[in-house]
Amino acid sequence: MVKAIPHKPYAVFPSVLVHRQQCTNRNGGNLMLQQLTPRVYQLDFSQEQDRPVLGYIRGDRFSLMVDAGNSPEHVQAYLAAVEESGFCQPDFVALTHSHWDHCFGLASLPMPSIACVQTRQSLEMVSRLQWTPDALAENVRKGIVPQLCAPRIQLHFPDPESIRVALPTMVFSESMTLDLGNCTCELRHVTSAHARDTVIVWVKEEQMVFLGDAVYQELVGDVWVERPEKLRKLIQELEPLDFQLAQPAHQKAMTKTDLLAWFRRRLERTVQS
Ligand SMILES: [Zn+2]
Repeated sequence: MVKAIPHKPYAVFPSVLVHRQQCTNRNGGNLMLQQLTPRVYQLDFSQEQDRPVLGYIRGDRFSLMVDAGNSPEHVQAYLAAVEESGFCQPDFVALTHSHWDHCFGLASLPMPSIACVQTRQSLEMVSRLQWTPDALAENVRKGIVPQLCAPRIQLHFPDPESIRVALPTMVFSESMTLDLGNCTCELRHVTSAHARDTVIVWVKEEQMVFLGDAVYQELVGDVWVERPEKLRKLIQELEPLDFQLAQPAHQKAMTKTDLLAWFRRRLERTVQS
C-alpha cells in the first residue's frame, strides 16, 4: 500500500493498476512511498537527514529510480519502501547531478546507473579523493568539498574511509529517452546555477518532472548565490515542457504555475537588490 497524495486529475492509465506478475504485495507494511501521479512515486526528502527525494517511476516493463541517495542507509530505506509497496526493485537508476547527497548511495545499488557525461566526469574526480578525516579537511581547504557539506558527510559516515564512490554505467550528453513501457522518461541536461551537470527527469505521459537540485542557487563558500542569467535560461528550458507537477529534490512538489512564479519572484529580487 502507498500513501496517495491528492493531485490534479491526469489522463487515466488503466495499466498502472496492474502490478507485474512477479511482484508480491506485502500487506501491513509501513506506508513509505508517496504517490505523485498514477505511475510516479517517491521516498520523501528529509532536511534533518540530508536526504533528497528519491523517485520511483513504474513503466509496464521497467522501473526507474531517480537519484541514488546519500548513503547505504538511505538506499536501504528506499528499497524497503519499494518492497513494502509491493513493487519490483528498480531496473535502472538515473542521477540528477554529482553532489554527495544524490550519489553516495550508488555503490550500494546493484542495477545499472545513468548520468550525463558531466556527472560522470565529476564522479571520476570525486572517486579519486581520499576520505580519511585529514584528507576531508584538506579537500575542504582546497574548496573541493564545500565547508557546509563536510560535517554533514561526517555525520553520515563517521568513518569517512567507508565512503565508496561508484561511477555511472551509462552516460549521455544533452538528453536521453527511456521507454519504460507506456511511460516515457526524458533525461535532460539543463542549465542551473546549482551544478553544471544538472539533469531533470521528465515523465512525459504523467506530465511531471523530477528537478533534482536544478531550482537551487550556487553554493559559493558557505553562501547560496543567485545567478539570474542561469535562472532565466532554466526558465526558457523548462517553460516549453508539458508538465503539471514539478518535484524539486529538497522540498514539496509544486505545480508548473507555482514553480515559474517562484522563479520570477527570485528574478525580481535580484533586479531590486
Ligand atoms: Zn546539489
